[in-house]
Amino acid sequence: MLSVYFVGRKNMKPIASLSLDLDNKWSYMKTHGDAGWESFPSYLDIVVPRALEFLKKRDLKITFFVVGQDAALEKNRKALAQIPKAGHEIGNHSFKHEPWLHLYSKEDLIEEFEKTEAALKEATGQMPKGFRGPGYSLSPTVLEVLAERGYEYDCSTLPSYIGPLARAYYFLSSPDMSREEKAKRKKLFGKFSDGFQRLKPYKWKVGENEITEIPVTTLPVFKVPIHASYVIYLSTFSKPAARLYWKTALKLCRFTGTQLSLLLHPLDFLSGEDAPELKFFPAMSLPIKQKLEFVGEILEAMSENFEIVNMHEHAERISSDNYSALPVRSALAGPS
Ligand SMILES: [Zn+2]
Repeated sequence: MLSVYFVGRKNMKPIASLSLDLDNKWSYMKTHGDAGWESFPSYLDIVVPRALEFLKKRDLKITFFVVGQDAALEKNRKALAQIPKAGHEIGNHSFKHEPWLHLYSKEDLIEEFEKTEAALKEATGQMPKGFRGPGYSLSPTVLEVLAERGYEYDCSTLPSYIGPLARAYYFLSSPDMSREEKAKRKKLFGKFSDGFQRLKPYKWKVGENEITEIPVTTLPVFKVPIHASYVIYLSTFSKPAARLYWKTALKLCRFTGTQLSLLLHPLDFLSGEDAPELKFFPAMSLPIKQKLEFVGEILEAMSENFEIVNMHEHAERISSDNYSALPVRSALAGPS
């Protein structure tokens, strides 16, 4: 009996979710303070088919967080329509992709959400059930608006201590940015105290409603980022070290009972040749074939340890019976 039980257990992997923030070329240029973003230059026609083919090969169904502004433009419609056709979920990644969304008034937020939902519905046929703020921006007002609009989950928190470091790197690589522009980006990538946030999912209590929060997983205990872009960046120094880092992250997640939620970015599917404007980003010099092979390795190791699902399924499954005791946090108590 016992052995049967263990055989059964062995095959039962914990769940983990996978998502791709479909940040477009213009949104990187805008945050970086580069000229030319106003015409919304796009690489979605390259990234989307490449990512879809990659995911199909590995039989993965994930969540694409799409920016409303992109969905509103005719030139992106063909690429975006392919995403739900391939069986993936569409999430809301704001309309204007401004990492200072936490500074918006409620009125502005409602307008932002109305426009995004309409554009996403039109371009993909899906109404988003989940939200990820640009640059991990979240505020009690954002949570309030999410609850009022019937969102089921949010995944805008990045429990990490290194936000201020990432921001410093950003500012160093954009020396012409004005003081005012820098002020808006004051909380870009988060603040040091974000490292004290919970790594495991929980619920936000917003008035009478509850929203499931699935944080972007960082390395348990150490709270340093583990999303694919960081691991790929490490691999440009040493592939064995990057592999070891990733395998350690997977083990620590399993050991601490942290259900991994891994984040992908378009730059994980692009090289400097595809987007010369973004060459300043780490790992953009890596040839595309090499990069994709390494992303493949990351996901293979992940699926050996976890059952990979999209964000909505992750949120639903942790809200089901087994996890009915998810901790609840008041939206008013944070995030600030
Ligand atoms: Zn983004």
